[in-house]
Amino acid sequence: MLRVLDSAVLCGAFGREARELECEMARLYGRAEAVSSSSGTAALHLAVAAAGVGPGDEVVTTPISDFGTVAPVLAQGARVVFADVREDDGNLDPDAVEAAITPRTRAVIAVHLFGGAADTVRLREICDRHGVLLIEDCAQAWLGEDGEGRLLGTIGDIACFSLQQYKHITAGDGGLSITDDPALATRMRLFMDKGWDRAEGRIHRTMGLNYRMTELVAAVARVQLTRVAGVVARRRASARLLADAVAALPGVTVPRPYPGHAWWVVPLLVDDNTRWAAALEGLGVPALPGYLERPLYANPALSGYPPGLCPRAERLIDRTLLVLPWNEAYREDDVERIAQALGKVAAS
Ligand SMILES: *Cc1c(COP(=O)(O)O)cnc(C)c1O
Repeated sequence: MLRVLDSAVLCGAFGREARELECEMARLYGRAEAVSSSSGTAALHLAVAAAGVGPGDEVVTTPISDFGTVAPVLAQGARVVFADVREDDGNLDPDAVEAAITPRTRAVIAVHLFGGAADTVRLREICDRHGVLLIEDCAQAWLGEDGEGRLLGTIGDIACFSLQQYKHITAGDGGLSITDDPALATRMRLFMDKGWDRAEGRIHRTMGLNYRMTELVAAVARVQLTRVAGVVARRRASARLLADAVAALPGVTVPRPYPGHAWWVVPLLVDDNTRWAAALEGLGVPALPGYLERPLYANPALSGYPPGLCPRAERLIDRTLLVLPWNEAYREDDVERIAQALGKVAAS
């Protein structure tokens, strides 16, 4: 931060921090290119715009995610087509995705919900067969892996990350988009900076917004990037302890607690998430019933989607999904207290 302030160059278009961050992010993920931006939502907007999504096009995605997953599609004047999710971990059901694809589909956005992998193998195969782009939303899945140990963010054509306050690592706000495709990278870079290739002069080649990451944010993000592996490792160790404790309890399960999970939060499946959340709250353990209050399509910002559109997603939100906030600072005794509270509620 002091290095940036002393340089007096605070804007990402003119300094070195944002460019260095992009190189470090590309190296961390072993991908050819990374483009920085002002938020995870912006990172997804770069991806959706680079995919050529426009009016009349469709993008298939999940109803259980942050609004930032769908806002870029709406901003491009395209239609969001919601596919239902798997009833255990809340990630996209590949069969539902395939059924939702039409000749107008341009892309599928797969969210790795809570840090657990969507079905990367099948979604990649479906997208290839239909000739549509696969965009991975890795905002909740920093350094997460799929069941075969492949790094999430290296399977899609583009993968997007968030540096918002409550993600694994933060710089306040910020976003990163990675790809191996130089043409997609160029389009994302242009869209991030008003369609302006700074090496060329004051010419606007494409439509673009100002989604630049500032040098101050980039300086913080560069340090955070060196810490993310440790953050994920500590979350894995403590979530493992909790998953083992929960395995012994009746009426509650941790869906798919495999080793490569990134544990943004710890999701639980119960019979009545409202009752569990209230009981846990009473014992001093914060818990969120359903993660969202409603599926994305039931928000006033979207219209034309009937209730019951994705029944498995609605059941998770209304009845069975309970989310425990998680943190790399949780120690063994913190996990023990949470497990004891879960045990009390399970027994009551
Ligand atoms: C946080 C989040 C976003 C949006 O990121 P912001 O940095 O808040 O704009 C998008 N998708 C998912 C899955 C997220 O968790």
